[in-house]
Amino acid sequence: MAVSSDIPIQLVSASPAPPHDALARPLRDLRISVIDRCNFRCPYCMPEDQYAQDYEFLSKDQRLRFEEIERLARAFVAQGVRKLRLTGGEPLLRRDLPHLIEMLARIPGIEDIAMTTNGVLLPKFAQALRDAGLHRLTVSLDTLDAATFRTLCGGRGEVAEVLAGIDAAERAGFAKIKLNCVVMRGVNDAQVLDLVERFRGTGHIVRFIEYMDVGTVNHWRGDMVVPSAELIARLAARWPLEPLQPNYRGEVAERYRFADGAGEVGFISSVSQPFCGDCSRARLSADGKLYTCLFARLGYDLRESLRAGASDEELAALITQRWTRRTDRYSEQRAELRARGEQKHVEMFAVGG
Ligand code: SAM
Ligand code: SF4
Ligand code: SF4
Repeated sequence: MAVSSDIPIQLVSASPAPPHDALARPLRDLRISVIDRCNFRCPYCMPEDQYAQDYEFLSKDQRLRFEEIERLARAFVAQGVRKLRLTGGEPLLRRDLPHLIEMLARIPGIEDIAMTTNGVLLPKFAQALRDAGLHRLTVSLDTLDAATFRTLCGGRGEVAEVLAGIDAAERAGFAKIKLNCVVMRGVNDAQVLDLVERFRGTGHIVRFIEYMDVGTVNHWRGDMVVPSAELIARLAARWPLEPLQPNYRGEVAERYRFADGAGEVGFISSVSQPFCGDCSRARLSADGKLYTCLFARLGYDLRESLRAGASDEELAALITQRWTRRTDRYSEQRAELRARGEQKHVEMFAVGG
């Protein structure tokens, strides 16, 4: 067929090949922490005794502005990133967050925008988040037991508030909400069946996360980790489970379906079964540092270059340069590195999980 000369021909550039790191892992996902503050003080992340009233969180000027986050996100997308996850601290404490989501949702090439939240502010924001273009939600919920919940949020909230947040998210149109539960032996591990029972059949997906030695302040002990294999056996004794194939390469959760068709559960086993081999995630802190691992000691300052007037090409080159040098695989080396006393990592609330 002849092409009429007066019809403009749009040149669509092929999807860029993402840079690969030193262990041949592509850059595919970006987690953006929008704020380091939080309205909870979960003992496994930001224990109250370490973050008393005088702790200095980032100031407004230290945090990236929305336009800066958008520019960096575009630079990451130009390098092959397809999925964004907003996190914190508590992302919903960042003023006007739906506006940032709108800005990010407009970036050509983004296939998925998700957010992880403790859920307390969802009744206020769920509809605006949905309208702004947020695709998926993960809500952290460690227990249904009111007293244990208070312990696990550092006395700053009530489980009923999170459940109200999940209801609000459903009403706003979010389906298949992921519910993240960090399991700590002797704290909430006796309550996992109740949590599963409550959400079986709702379409939402409870995911159990092994308690990790992130940051420097949570007094992690290996004997407080409940290995996923143990949890799977406990769940399967009550409801027969069948393993599911991963949705995509590099999916962090191991998935199982209930044999009776009541949905699925997931297990994130970064302590007992590390998955560094497929890790394609970069992390951007609220002050614009690029971390190539959740357990990295140092981040690479992109804000400085951004504020010094770097061009899009220069920003993209910096990202590629850092990624191609990446050798991180902390979870696979945990025992060895801890034995050597290498336990200085960025805090979880700074990079957002
Ligand atoms: N504030 C939001 C929330 O809690 O959902 C987002 C940030 S939070 C740092 C992201 C996720 O990290 C949460 O699901 C939380 O449970 C998880 N997390 C925090 N500390 C952890 C730890 N020591 N081990 C495993 N998961 C942890
Ligand atoms: Fe806050 Fe999330 Fe950390 Fe809990 S896990 S203290 S809610 S950032
Ligand atoms: Fe990725 Fe680091 Fe976690 Fe390994 S330890 S899966 S490299 S973030």
